[in-house]
Amino acid sequence: MKLGILGGGQLGRMMALAAAPLDIHCRIWEPETSACARHYAEHLHESYDDNIARERFLKDLDACTYEFENLPATLIEALQARIAVNPPALAISTSQDRWQEKAFFQKLNIPTAPYCAVNSLADLETAVTTIGLPAVLKTCRFGYDGKGQCILRNTSDITNAWQQLGGVPLILEGFVKFQREVSQIAVRSKQGDIRFYALSENVHRNGILHSSVAKPQDAMSESAQQTVRQLMDALNYVGVICVEFFDIDGKLIANEYAPRVHNSGHWTIEGAETSQFENHVRAVCGLPLGSTTTRGHVAMLNIIGTHPDMHRVCAIEGAHLHVYGKTEKPARKLGHITLRCDDPVSLQKAFDTALTCIAVS
Ligand code: AMP
Repeated sequence: MKLGILGGGQLGRMMALAAAPLDIHCRIWEPETSACARHYAEHLHESYDDNIARERFLKDLDACTYEFENLPATLIEALQARIAVNPPALAISTSQDRWQEKAFFQKLNIPTAPYCAVNSLADLETAVTTIGLPAVLKTCRFGYDGKGQCILRNTSDITNAWQQLGGVPLILEGFVKFQREVSQIAVRSKQGDIRFYALSENVHRNGILHSSVAKPQDAMSESAQQTVRQLMDALNYVGVICVEFFDIDGKLIANEYAPRVHNSGHWTIEGAETSQFENHVRAVCGLPLGSTTTRGHVAMLNIIGTHPDMHRVCAIEGAHLHVYGKTEKPARKLGHITLRCDDPVSLQKAFDTALTCIAVS
């Protein structure tokens, strides 16, 4: 079988690695010549509007998916006319725009932070009056890892925030005073079978995911799963999805969803019976899904900006190092460490040791 993947970053790389044992060959289309998935898949690096490249990409494909959501809508439309693209076009177009995404959540009665569309300085002033402060101003499109966002604490921040982000469609969201952030990763097959992974409890630093801990017995699991099931059914979804939530006193507020495999699910590679990458490949290729059961006690620590000492990380009992083959740069995700142990005490010890490897790097 041949699977086409739009995008060739670390998510595409891990997808291609998961597809290999199934003898599913991946072809990535990623204009960036140094794309980190290129060593594990056939790589087309022409631009996305190149019609000849599109034919080369489509040749003999059995299935088509993507590893990031900021893809041109015209590309998805052109591909869809020729082959099923999964997750479906509605899932990607809705998630590309924060306003549409929030409106979609609301249509399904899924709670969100209060929000207002902002297209001018006057809109922003009105939105601040409606929503109150503190609040978060975000670009509707192309924001990721905390980029394209600005926190407003006082009315004196309004002009500055507008100067920083204005000129493109924006959304003002009420600042949520959450106890913790969690995400629910799930997978839906072409037949509508849904499997849920354990809830991930996530810590972000400067808007970037720092660490995740798998919480199979979490009290909020049922509520998170109900929301994700509703969303997947409404989107007639195929593949892996991740919904990120704020937990306020035991009530879940949806922040956003990613129509793809997600960083907060990287622990599933060693920490679940079937990883999110394998299950995504299975789903989009029309295969039955694998078990999502957690294996023991699991956590994940991101490697950001600087590479750690490989020898030190590999020496930690229960640690699995994943390095993406990227050059060092501040705030860049370079890899992650999965920590998988048979008991919570060993997991905490492994996690604390891994933290020191990251901190000194
Ligand atoms: P996002 O790009 O929306 O995922 O935001 C990145 C991170 O910023 C989130 O994981 C939160 O830690 C924080 N954040 C985003 N939106 C809000 C909000 N409305 N209230 C409080 N924190 C937020």
